[in-house]
Amino acid sequence: MKITTIEQAGYERVAKCEDPAAGLTAYIAVHNTTLGPALGGLRMWKYDNEKAAITDVLRLSRGMTFKSAVAKTGLGGGKSVIVGNPRTEKTAKLFEAMGRFVDSFGGQYITAEDVGVGIEDLMHVRKTTQWVTGLSRADGGSGNPSPYTALGCFEGVKAAAIEAWGSDDLKGKVVAMQGPGNVGFPLGEQLVKAGARLVVCDVNQDSVDRAVSQLGATAVMPNDIYDVPCDIFSPCALGGILNDDTIPRLKCKVIAGAANNQLLDEVRHAAAVTARGMVYAPDYVINAGGIINVSLELEKGGYNEAAAMKKIHNIFDALRSIFETARKQKITTHAAAQAVAEANIAAGLAKKKAASPAAR
Ligand code: NAD
Repeated sequence: MKITTIEQAGYERVAKCEDPAAGLTAYIAVHNTTLGPALGGLRMWKYDNEKAAITDVLRLSRGMTFKSAVAKTGLGGGKSVIVGNPRTEKTAKLFEAMGRFVDSFGGQYITAEDVGVGIEDLMHVRKTTQWVTGLSRADGGSGNPSPYTALGCFEGVKAAAIEAWGSDDLKGKVVAMQGPGNVGFPLGEQLVKAGARLVVCDVNQDSVDRAVSQLGATAVMPNDIYDVPCDIFSPCALGGILNDDTIPRLKCKVIAGAANNQLLDEVRHAAAVTARGMVYAPDYVINAGGIINVSLELEKGGYNEAAAMKKIHNIFDALRSIFETARKQKITTHAAAQAVAEANIAAGLAKKKAASPAAR
């Protein structure tokens, strides 16, 4: 196994791991540990090239710093990616090697699930490192974080609905959802239960079929989702989907979904959705349910579901407050969220310095 450091300004540690015997090429990025160890999921994806994998891990880990800072999980931001096809290239050996890579960070980085990686894969990672969260309840973990992320997103959709229409009543609202997967599907269930109607797209036909048959959704082709006349656009697949090409096509009032890094350019594209009069629920605030849930595994008394649920429901208030700040200060909702994250990180740093005079 060969581990190489990648110098990256603004990040505490970024590394690449190559283990040809295990078929592993992976990257870990630790963005910031001011508020605690860097916790963020492990993604497996068929990246076209090294640059795409590094860009993804950098963007994702940075997002985790802000997500945990707003949600006050007591954690920092990090993330990892494995280059490979999650449908055809998974082996126990691959994930055991990934565990050794995670272990080489000595607890500075703690992993969990993300796109393409499930609990069964993390069980292999756990064989070679203790720094894993989100294992099954039977194995002492907090379980799959996705339903908790979905719950937080549902709270976020309601908060955005109040901002847009003055009411959280979703009856009759049309939701165009991109990617009804591990988070999107349970979010879709809650939306339908609340009286909304779903239009979905997915590159995986099984996901489309499940949403159509079980949620009564209407299906469209992946590239057509941006043109669907709807009340709420809910991106629940991959990042970068709010960009120069897609924003002018959107026909919604609210953008609220689970995907990480939805804005291709955080400043410019946040301004573009605001200019179009859309209420954008900042991704790392609305999708914090999963990280909140796994973070409770690291609390002194161990995992407590009631405490997790209480904190996840707070996403509603956190977003209401961000929408209000944005409205009053005439800034984007992204900028308002960023201000909360940065203030919480600065407060954590000040507290650390006060506790350790040597660090001043
Ligand atoms: P998932 O893989 O279960 O679901 C994503 C779905 O999107 C899949 O069905 C996939 O086929 C589909 N998809 C991929 N590319 C697409 C495209 N171009 N067009 C349409 N569909 C496409 O993943 P997930 O765990 O549900 O996560 C979804 C998003 O939410 C990701 O961005 C993830 O980082 C983010 N997120 C997940 C969690 C969690 O708890 N799982 C927490 C926070 C954020």
